[in-house]
Amino acid sequence: MSKEKIALFTIFGGTGDLAQRKLYPSLFKLYQKGYLKEHFAVIGTARRPWTNEHYHGVITDSLASLNADPATVAKFAGHFYYQSHDVTDAQHYVTLKQLSEKLDAQYGLQGNRIFYLAMAPNFFGTIAQHLRSENILTPNGFNRVIIEKPFGHDFESAKELNDQLTATFNENQIYRIDHYLGKEMIQNISAIRFGNNIWESLWNNRYISNVQVTLSEKLGVEERAVYYDNSGALRDMVQNHILQILSLLTMDQPVEFTEKDIDVEKVKALRSLRPLKPEEVATNFVRGQYAADGDVKAYRNEDKISPDSNTDTFVAGKVMIDNFRWSGVPFYVRTGKRLADKFTRIDVVFKRPIVNIFNHDDVRENDDAATSLAPNVLTINVEPTEGVELRMNAKALGQGFATTPVKLNFAHDAAATANSPEAYERLLHDALNGDATNFTHWKEVAYSWKFVDVIQKYWDEHTPDFPNYRPGSMGPDASDELLRQDGHEWIYKE
Ligand code: NAD
Repeated sequence: MSKEKIALFTIFGGTGDLAQRKLYPSLFKLYQKGYLKEHFAVIGTARRPWTNEHYHGVITDSLASLNADPATVAKFAGHFYYQSHDVTDAQHYVTLKQLSEKLDAQYGLQGNRIFYLAMAPNFFGTIAQHLRSENILTPNGFNRVIIEKPFGHDFESAKELNDQLTATFNENQIYRIDHYLGKEMIQNISAIRFGNNIWESLWNNRYISNVQVTLSEKLGVEERAVYYDNSGALRDMVQNHILQILSLLTMDQPVEFTEKDIDVEKVKALRSLRPLKPEEVATNFVRGQYAADGDVKAYRNEDKISPDSNTDTFVAGKVMIDNFRWSGVPFYVRTGKRLADKFTRIDVVFKRPIVNIFNHDDVRENDDAATSLAPNVLTINVEPTEGVELRMNAKALGQGFATTPVKLNFAHDAAATANSPEAYERLLHDALNGDATNFTHWKEVAYSWKFVDVIQKYWDEHTPDFPNYRPGSMGPDASDELLRQDGHEWIYKE
């Protein structure tokens, strides 16, 4: 069977940053690999009055870093058509429909359509409504819509947005991008857990002490300042990426490894998040904002940021999951900008042996007999290294008898990871296949917002003492204190 996929892509926001940096290179890679061949076309739309020739130049430029064969690039770019289009103008959809039908006939696209909304979410509703009212959806092929984050800024606005989309599309036609779900090692969580009896047997509150998820960024707010200042780390990173990762780490085993069964288990996990009461927010969640340091500007002095902004550029939190498997196990999460380094990792910290037989002096003097044995830690390195590490105790080399932690280490080699598909390429391929496993479903979004809304509301009502952390650190001291009060510590330290 041919692996070629057949579809017309319509990219709203075709002149934008996301389209140029991510979508065009990803489509090109699918083309190079033969998933897209003759039977595909792309309509790029935005307000600017570009010609097709100019658009082809933009496509070619967006692929420059791939060093591809110019003839292949030219052939690929020949499938792209530019349509000047203001998404709020109904008349423009008439032209779009005509062009869509012409390309459908020209390329034999069988009525298959993917609408990629690479635009600000406040336009999603109007686009969806016009696609329906102007009959741009086809009765014969598939019609799918891919949308970007943010999906609302709280539960109410997310619901409103969802209602607008579902007036045109069914839930199974909506592909909500969370690009972390396209990452190799995030997809690997299920393989590690359900493919290895040693892990899945221990994956519960009898053996696991705590779990730590860190999404750390080294850069400051950069060019997304206006958006970010209205969002902050909690809404920008925790509501979506971090809670999605938590759901994959904590869900029960799906009956089958299918979109439907995985979604059922993820939703159950997210429903089990223990909701915080307002008075519990301050003891369970820490927020931060970076200060100045040498040449590095404080967040409040960044371009386009108000000098009295109270936006969180860091968040650390303790999340509890109220079910049989996880009762009593804290999940510590943290993310922020201008931290020590750029990486994403998950540390699963196991309980120490109940008795430490190796150090009898300790046993007699110390009630906590096992304190001198380090806990086993399974680390899933998501990026930049992609691999798994296990810390365990072994005998120290040499005369006498002492224990020391050693590490078992697996990392995909750099050449293999360089050739493996990037998140957007995987996700576009999934959308072409009609597989929404690695996209966020509405119920997941809803439960995530309900959890986050309590924290955000409490923060909005209380003035923080910002700025409170040094660029290059791992956030404010209160983040370390959050774990210390439970007798734990962050496995990754700066
Ligand atoms: P951008 O500002 O670079 O592009 C927006 C596009 O929308 C442009 O093509 C612009 O011409 C078009 N546009 C604006 N108003 C229009 C109108 N009335 N009619 C027609 N076209 C109009 O934004 P971006 O960075 O490409 O982001 C697009 C979406 O993706 C946003 O929802 C953003 O939050 C999300 N996103 C972007 C990134 C990224 O890396 N850029 C990452 C995550 C999420």
